[in-house]
Amino acid sequence: MSTGTHGTGVTLGSLSSAVTKWGFVDGTGTYREHMRGMDDLSEALHVSLGMLGVLVKVTIKVIPLYSLHYVSTRDTLANGLAIFAEDIRQHRHVEWFYFPGSETIQVKRMNAIAPVYQSEWSKRIETLKLQIVENGAFFAMSELCKWRPSFSGAMSKLAAANVVEGEKMGISYEIYPSPRSVKFQESEYAIPLTQFESCMEEIHSTFNSGIFNVHFPLECRTTAGEAGFLSPTQGRETAFIAFHMYKGMQEGPYFEWVHTMMKKYKGRPHWGKLNHLTANYVYELYPDVEKFLAIRSQCDPDNVFLTGYLRKLFTL
Ligand SMILES: Cc1cc2nc3c(=O)[nH]c(=O)nc-3n(C[C@H](O)[C@H](O)[C@H](O)COP(=O)(O)OP(=O)(O)OC[C@H]3O[C@@H](n4cnc5c(N)ncnc54)[C@H](O)[C@@H]3O)c2cc1C
Repeated sequence: MSTGTHGTGVTLGSLSSAVTKWGFVDGTGTYREHMRGMDDLSEALHVSLGMLGVLVKVTIKVIPLYSLHYVSTRDTLANGLAIFAEDIRQHRHVEWFYFPGSETIQVKRMNAIAPVYQSEWSKRIETLKLQIVENGAFFAMSELCKWRPSFSGAMSKLAAANVVEGEKMGISYEIYPSPRSVKFQESEYAIPLTQFESCMEEIHSTFNSGIFNVHFPLECRTTAGEAGFLSPTQGRETAFIAFHMYKGMQEGPYFEWVHTMMKKYKGRPHWGKLNHLTANYVYELYPDVEKFLAIRSQCDPDNVFLTGYLRKLFTL
């Protein structure tokens, strides 16, 4: 709730957007409560990176228990891009995995249904599929790519050909999360939703040129726009594109390219993942950073919460 952690769904905000009231201890040691309103303190608290104080109590909006109907399919990138704008409005959650250098994407679509628990049988089958294909086989492929990075293109295509298709139903918390036991480095960017198709085309053509050895799929998600001063989705419906590199493989040049490309799309990096942020860039990406800092100086006049890392990002 301090970093804008998000899921996927163009009508849905980040976890921060669920908060209706914050209880926090500020830099003077004072406990304060604040109800969300159309005011600057709310927009500052929305994503605060811990710079306003320690959140000790939050009140969040909840909805009655619901289930999800989940469908995973394989599609071509070209078709996915052609229907993307409509598709994301027809389903509560849409998530893509794009396999670098292949023409294939995996599309996960999920919609809310009345509460129904996943059957034990379905759970077992799904766990087996996830353990064997998405984690076991993918781990073996990743180790192979670490040993011979030039195998990455072939491994990406192999992973694309073996996407787990199927459907399942169950309570939201049984269906939405996916276990991830293959370790990776990640950088993720929030770009204006309207730019998604052109950005993916640029990414695809770069992978096709073969300059990077990447086998890890890119994860693409969407969210509603938010107002928070430091929210990566501030002021715009957003597409998130996440880039990964297997732990132990060289991610430097790849992430450097991602960072340079994302500048063109005014991509705001996820605060909680690897990024190339500098103070100048933070000021460029976040038009209300001064408003945030004015509130920060009232909440934390002695800079108790300004770590060395944050000082670099917020001092010009
Ligand atoms: C396995 C895994 C899966 C992930 N999946 C997703 C995903 O699906 N979507 C997504 O958006 N991100 C995802 N992330 C990234 C995630 O958003 C960050 O890891 C998260 O922001 C870290 O928050 P934390 O509280 O765990 O960590 P911390 O490092 O403890 O905190 C992160 C920041 O929040 C501040 N903070 C922490 N606690 C408080 C508090 N009580 N009061 C005020 N400030 C506080 C800290 O000062 C720090 O600046 C994932 C990360 C991992 C490891």
